[in-house]
Amino acid sequence: MKIIRVKAHALSMKLDKVYWTSRGAWGTYNTIVVEVETDDGLIGIGTINKTPLKDIADIVDALGPVIKGMDALAHEAVWWKIFNLTVPHLEAGQSDATRPIYDQNKRVNLMAALAGIDLALWDIKGKAMKLPMWRLLGGDKREVPAYASGGYYEEGYSPLAVIDEMAGYAAQGYTAVKMKCGGASIEGDIARISGVRKAIGDKAQLMIDANGAYTLADAERAIKAFEPYDIFWFEEPLQWHDATRGLGRLAACTHVPLASGESEMHSNVVRDQIDLGSIRYVQWDCTRAGGLTEGLRIAAYAMAHGVQIAYHHDPQIHGHLMAAQPHGFCVESFPSIPRDPFWHQVLTVKPKLEAGKLTLGDEPGFGFEIDWKLVKKWQI
Ligand SMILES: [Mg+2]
Repeated sequence: MKIIRVKAHALSMKLDKVYWTSRGAWGTYNTIVVEVETDDGLIGIGTINKTPLKDIADIVDALGPVIKGMDALAHEAVWWKIFNLTVPHLEAGQSDATRPIYDQNKRVNLMAALAGIDLALWDIKGKAMKLPMWRLLGGDKREVPAYASGGYYEEGYSPLAVIDEMAGYAAQGYTAVKMKCGGASIEGDIARISGVRKAIGDKAQLMIDANGAYTLADAERAIKAFEPYDIFWFEEPLQWHDATRGLGRLAACTHVPLASGESEMHSNVVRDQIDLGSIRYVQWDCTRAGGLTEGLRIAAYAMAHGVQIAYHHDPQIHGHLMAAQPHGFCVESFPSIPRDPFWHQVLTVKPKLEAGKLTLGDEPGFGFEIDWKLVKKWQI
């Protein structure tokens, strides 16, 4: 079964409001759909949740000739063929068009392109074996817990609008909800967090996500201020430059578990976040870097160190891993219809998301189907 075609479709969908995190604003939902086709007619689909769209999509397309003719079931061989484009080689002085160079500035985009291709290869594997991914990975249950993610700072709306939003998820049956922090003063966030805690009751789990907002000193002050509201985890508290060893120092001064990993591009960084950062929840995103193959390496490391997995975003992918991994904690989901047009509109066949539970289907591979008319409409 040989790879004959690789194609990226980059989608940018305009949203009806502008969402903010501490990291910045976004008014479009961006994603890339990757197709890999084999010589016996199977087409695997992967998704990439990362920008810049055009740069990453161009790399996906450029990798087509590099892996054309390789065995579509050989996910490790393809992974290393692509990954090795980022590291030195022994043919210096000889130009080779099939071996483009991906230097420091391009590595992060190459890891995202690799994610989309790797996921498409796993989808092919499931389709070839006629097995849904959760079974191919060894799981025996189709239901996984899902938490409701949202709670952004919305442009033009009161910062306290988050209270009604989170209460709404709790009313829908979600027993775990996540909101943003770090995009306001600590006092401003206390008003939001305390209001949400009051609205969702004592029993619901409340996660907060700073999206890398704080210095170590500010993160210590913030979590001390937020601790009284029974925070289930503190996600990406630290600015990017101190998001490994600094996490360990922060972990030593709070009982609130730390969660991180969605912004990293390699398993070695997550290894260090576990070893040096004392994180208790790994939030790897298979659609952003390295694909499912890298996700499995991370899951194995986390398992050996007593750390749980709570994959970031894209439940149509990560729900399958969660179902197959005993240390899978909870899958992230976005019940808000305006916030996630990809899940709610573009994916026509997908797992059922309801009342804090994701139910996976029996379709082979990842088992989702795409509305190609909408892809055409929103393609850049
Ligand atoms: Mg996050």
